[in-house]
Amino acid sequence: MNKKHFIFIPVILFLTAALFSGCTVKKSGPISRTGFYFDTVISIAIYDSENETILDGCMKMASHYDQLLSAQKEGSDIWNVNHAKGKPVTVDSDTADLLQKALYYARLSGGRFDPTLGGVSSLWNFNGQTPGPVPAASDISSALTHVGYQNIELSGNTVTLKDPDTQIDLGAIAKGYIADQIKSYLQKQGVKSAIINLGGNVLLVGSKPDHEEFTIGIQKPFADNSTYITTVSASDLSIVSSGTYERYFEQDGKKYHHILDPSTGYPVENHLLGVTILSKLSVDGDGLSTTCFVLGLDEGMKLIESLPDTEAVFITDDDQLHYSSGFPQ
Ligand code: ADP
Ligand code: MG
Repeated sequence: MNKKHFIFIPVILFLTAALFSGCTVKKSGPISRTGFYFDTVISIAIYDSENETILDGCMKMASHYDQLLSAQKEGSDIWNVNHAKGKPVTVDSDTADLLQKALYYARLSGGRFDPTLGGVSSLWNFNGQTPGPVPAASDISSALTHVGYQNIELSGNTVTLKDPDTQIDLGAIAKGYIADQIKSYLQKQGVKSAIINLGGNVLLVGSKPDHEEFTIGIQKPFADNSTYITTVSASDLSIVSSGTYERYFEQDGKKYHHILDPSTGYPVENHLLGVTILSKLSVDGDGLSTTCFVLGLDEGMKLIESLPDTEAVFITDDDQLHYSSGFPQ
């Protein structure tokens, strides 16, 4: 993982909580918990309850979904499918729901978003203390022959890989889905004011206890983690970003980032630095942030304009911001 992740997440949580939202209804302030799941730092802050067991419940859910959906964790649903050599595998209904969503974005983007990039993405090392190096071209091209979302057959809760060497990777959309599940758990517990932050994927539960909107900062690419290019004031909204600055390494003076072009197996190069999606559901925000990044500014913006209740800001490498027509500025 890029070091920046470690610093940014607490910053966005505590800054948004303390400075931006500035909520002081409860004398003791919000209760919050930080953990490390899905290869990133997550934080949950609850503003209208002091019941720590609700936070315990959130962390238990994070651990459960990490174990269910991670391609790297032996025995997870995704690991089981990837190691079944093409045999049918029965998965949890959550896994099936999420796969369904991933396939929806794969079809919508004509395969530019592709949940079967696992064989290629595992060749790249964007995590850890020493990310890199660039994989061998021959390894990328042979892994690419097994990429193709049409290789996933999903029938009810049964998943079959038509190509036994295809590898599923839901990293581009899982955090959004999990955030939505945590939100509905919080709501069932009676929480009406909270911020769920899964590695920079932010999902707002309600508004601040005084009914004012939360204000969330959108990070400036490659800048100091507390430097924002813009802020969004909202309640009950998902704010999800995908960017070249999130996970990357440099080799021979060139930056390599973690959003891959399924037609080449290499990082997408289209003059975008980042895309932030505003949506009701975080699974859609997460799916769309990666999809729009791969589609690029023109096609991505067209897609956003065609979708109801969905807004976006694209950041290009000339540091310009491009807002969709209904973006709350
Ligand atoms: P993050 O997970 O860092 O918040 P994203 O939501 O944009 O960022 O997801 C990027 C991850 O998705 C990559 O690390 C990789 O696992 C996977 N991925 C990369 N390119 C694609 C793609 N074109 N389609 C689907 N998944 C992708
Ligand atoms: Mg995404």
